[in-house]
Amino acid sequence: MIQKHYSLKENNTFGLEVFAKYFSAFRNADELKHLLNTFPNEKLLILGGGSNVLFTEDFNGLVLKNDIKGISVKEENEEYVIIESGAGEIWHEFVLYCIDNKYAGIENLSLIPGSVGASPMQNIGAYGVEIKDVFHALTAFHIASGEIHTFSHTDCEFGYRESVFKNKCKGQYVILSVQFKLSKNPTINVSYGAIQDVLQEKGIKNPGIKDVSDAVIEIRRSKLPDPVEIGNAGSFFKNPVVSEELAQQILNAYPDAPNYPAPNGSRKLAAGWLIEKAGWKGKRIEDYGVHVKQALVLVNYGTATGDQIAQLADQIIHSIQEKFGVTLEKEVNFY
Ligand code: FAD
Ligand code: NAP
Repeated sequence: MIQKHYSLKENNTFGLEVFAKYFSAFRNADELKHLLNTFPNEKLLILGGGSNVLFTEDFNGLVLKNDIKGISVKEENEEYVIIESGAGEIWHEFVLYCIDNKYAGIENLSLIPGSVGASPMQNIGAYGVEIKDVFHALTAFHIASGEIHTFSHTDCEFGYRESVFKNKCKGQYVILSVQFKLSKNPTINVSYGAIQDVLQEKGIKNPGIKDVSDAVIEIRRSKLPDPVEIGNAGSFFKNPVVSEELAQQILNAYPDAPNYPAPNGSRKLAAGWLIEKAGWKGKRIEDYGVHVKQALVLVNYGTATGDQIAQLADQIIHSIQEKFGVTLEKEVNFY
């Protein structure tokens, strides 16, 4: 059913009260095609769980929520399984389904909000794993031609919180389904100290994928605001990747600055640490601010507008540039 002047408050995890001129859900490619033919000239936004978007104003066009469901095994042998999920499945439920079936590889990505279809958009990642590590292929509806195209791993051009869908194919495709290649002989990844700490606390010496997932869930629940209680879209900024020289300058002034190796000799800094050091952590202005436990997360305490949050983000970017000479890049998609 097509709704007019539809409130998106329940469809964005910032909980912002904005309205779409038209709104509908679609359950398959035919329904999608029909909706696009009905509104050929409207500005278009495809929405999954709305957990990586910031609306700075009403959306003067057509918002379509992806509701394509279904999980099926495409190929299986003793070593691996290729499993396909409809783009509208909830990511965390898909992760739990895989863990229940002993398919390994995405347990570190437990409790990330949103849909399976959005996962390739920014190559979601957490605790040392990105979906590019297990991605097999996806199908996507090409809006201009109405054709369904298949994207291989290479076609997706995955990078750090990046893919072809955020770059040269931006706005051109609707992801319909995603296939993952998961292992039946798990290689456990506990490279992030926080996971090791939880496992050690629990006395787990040889963790399985369920143990890792449980640990990740526990850490995330203790550190991150639940969007049901406090509006947010997770990390607002990407971790900056800077030259070895700039990293060294910062380390000379702040020897405890977290930094990690990145491609081509560069270094990845922790954006949350930079923002905290610049004094923003826990700062609240009216009904918006920087989360008290996690400086990378901007929050809406209730009645903030997207514009206010966008302005706060710009102030933070300016402040980090001044203090450290580092340019933060936004991770959240603006509309
Ligand atoms: P949406 O917010 O609905 O959409 C995001 C973008 O993708 C939009 O541009 C939208 O148009 C586009 N899009 C969505 N679905 C489709 C589709 N089927 N076809 C084409 N385009 C589409 N991210 C991480 O990477 N790692 C984390 O650990 C993480 N933790 C988070 C924690 C919290 C508390 C929150 C609120 C967010 C977190 N995020 C994290 C960000 C977010 O969960 C992911 O980016 C997620 O993949 C977004 O999914 P979504 O369905 O909500 O996408
Ligand atoms: P954390 O463990 O406090 O670490 C701070 C930052 O340092 C992280 O952003 C992480 O980079 C990096 N880091 C830590 N240990 C590392 C290691 N062993 N090797 C390489 N890099 C390392 O981070 P956190 O904020 O609690 O988040 C934990 C994980 O969840 C991170 O992977 C983070 O990306 C993910 N997360 C993402 C979002 C989002 O919206 N995108 C929201 C919440 C959490 P990376 O971010 O590159 O991993």
